[in-house]
Amino acid sequence: MSVAPAWLTLIVPSLFTVISAVRVVFWWKSRDRTPTAEETFSALQRTQRLAVVISVAFTAWSFMLYPYGDAYQQSHIAFYMAITVISCIFCMMHVRVAAFAVAIIVNGAFVVFFMASGHATFIAIAINILLVSFGMLAVLMVNYGNFERMIVAQQQTEALSNENLRLANIDSLTGLPNRRAFFKHLSEAFEAATLQGTRLAVGVIDLDGFKPVNDLYGHSSGDRLLMEVANRLTLYFASKEMFLARLGGDEFAFVISNVAPQRDVVAEGNRMCAYMHSPFILPDATIIISGSIGIAVYPDLASSQEELFDRADYALYHGKRQKRGNSTLFTVHHVEEIHRDARIEQTLKQADFPSEMSVVFQPIVDGFQNRTVGFEALARWNSPTLGPVSPAQFIPIAERAGIIGGLTRTLLKKALHAAGTWPDQMRLSFNLSAQDLNSPEAVMAVIAIIENSPFDAERLDLEITETAFIHDTRQAKQSVEMLRKIGCGISLDDFGTGYSSLTALHSLPLTKIKIDQSFVNQIQDNPASEKIVRSVLTLGREMGLDAIVEGVETQQELSLITQLGGNFFQGYLFSPPMGETAILRFLQDEEQALGSRLSNG
Ligand code: C2E
Ligand code: CA
Ligand code: CA
Repeated sequence: MSVAPAWLTLIVPSLFTVISAVRVVFWWKSRDRTPTAEETFSALQRTQRLAVVISVAFTAWSFMLYPYGDAYQQSHIAFYMAITVISCIFCMMHVRVAAFAVAIIVNGAFVVFFMASGHATFIAIAINILLVSFGMLAVLMVNYGNFERMIVAQQQTEALSNENLRLANIDSLTGLPNRRAFFKHLSEAFEAATLQGTRLAVGVIDLDGFKPVNDLYGHSSGDRLLMEVANRLTLYFASKEMFLARLGGDEFAFVISNVAPQRDVVAEGNRMCAYMHSPFILPDATIIISGSIGIAVYPDLASSQEELFDRADYALYHGKRQKRGNSTLFTVHHVEEIHRDARIEQTLKQADFPSEMSVVFQPIVDGFQNRTVGFEALARWNSPTLGPVSPAQFIPIAERAGIIGGLTRTLLKKALHAAGTWPDQMRLSFNLSAQDLNSPEAVMAVIAIIENSPFDAERLDLEITETAFIHDTRQAKQSVEMLRKIGCGISLDDFGTGYSSLTALHSLPLTKIKIDQSFVNQIQDNPASEKIVRSVLTLGREMGLDAIVEGVETQQELSLITQLGGNFFQGYLFSPPMGETAILRFLQDEEQALGSRLSNG
């Protein structure tokens, strides 16, 4: 204060202090805010510009002070310039340009100025500062490089996780949203629908006849087909308010938001099914499949998003059983069905099988000789509370409830017992469920019953449907082989209704095929049915398998099928199922009729 003018010792430092204080307040205030990229960029640019301005001002001020005072005071200026720059470089480690600007401006001027002073001590200090600055800047470069690499790596991980998130929601084969994305969308759409009071439709699409394509033409053709299906669906139907996704396998689904009251989603579904039905032209083959759709609408008959999806699925499953290649709306009728099934399941679980269950028998007839060659055993349940319940109802329920095993064992014992009184050549057919084959324990229990009965296993045919082979093919095959080993025949039941392809048939140790009654019902007015029956009969002959045609009801059907090459029949034309006490009488009558026909002619 005593050696230099006040504006240099008081005013300029005060000015610097005020400017710095303003900056401190500014930084302090914005400490909790994360700036945007643009804000950050302009703040950094500001810092760079300010670094130049402040360095120049600071250097000029220092040099102006220098001429005043003695050697000690001048040394203090040199020391204080050098040490300040070092701390500035340190602080601006991550603002490389600013750090360099400060170092070059202040230290550059410093070195030139003190070298020129001619003072040995100051020249030494200048060299010293030069070296220290180089050291500091070298360290800064290395650190800055590391810092830069770290930020780049961080950005890459972020980009990668965004990509992963995208992939996690996309089905890689078709490019459609996947199952996970579907349910996410459904819950958002459901929330919006409840808030806005709008209607929401969910549809579940399942392809019929997809599995044989995989079997016959291989997986790459199957994949191609799925891609084409996805394209077709997207092209014709996906719109802004429709969200289409692939749930997996050959199952697709959609959500339609804001369904207007007059909008007919079932008709739209039917159009979708019709589009599915036109041929797909793939490199290896031209393929015809069909699609079935189940639809449920909120709030009409579903009150939660889970219920909405489950009910669409239910409508699909049940619609398919009646008519494939169509869309089915979940209705009040289905609600009643669900309640009825639940009641049947409850009652069935408490039922006393030995007293409530019985077996009836339907003849299987050799058309050449006009003679009964065997009987199929069919379950009957007379429930004390529900009355008679059809096996078409309670068998699927018992299967779903996992209690079919006990039922099979009771029925098999009864059937074998009844068949013990039949003439020697007469065969018995008995229906097994998929679950009777899908574990070694279950099939061993069946085998034990057969071996413990006096009825010869060679005279027994076990009827299985292809559903037995859908889930656990290996175990089912092993089970069937075990049954063959003890002498039983194996008939493939309801052939033609499922997915069975010729390849699937070849690999199974079958002895008979039963052609489903639905083909017989349609044979007179559906040329496709006639074709199928004819080719299955031919195939059976080639494979050395007897084919039994089920559900023959009229004389016309019988003669038509006989012309197509059919020989074994079952159906109301010959006899409905009968109780065990009626059998011997039935056979006697048959003998008599045959005898009189022989003597007549
Ligand atoms: P399924 O094995 O295809 O049995 C043939 C069904 O067709 C029987 O129905 C039979 O009564 C019926 N039927 C026979 N002839 C004619 C005909 O000319 N016209 C028509 N429209 N139908 C005819 P049912 O007895 O009601 O059995 C239904 C289904 O329940 C069976 O179909 C079978 O899948 C299952 N089932 C029956 N008994 C058993 C059993 O003991 N165990 C297992 N696992 N399933 C059984
Ligand atoms: Ca059967
Ligand atoms: Ca059948």
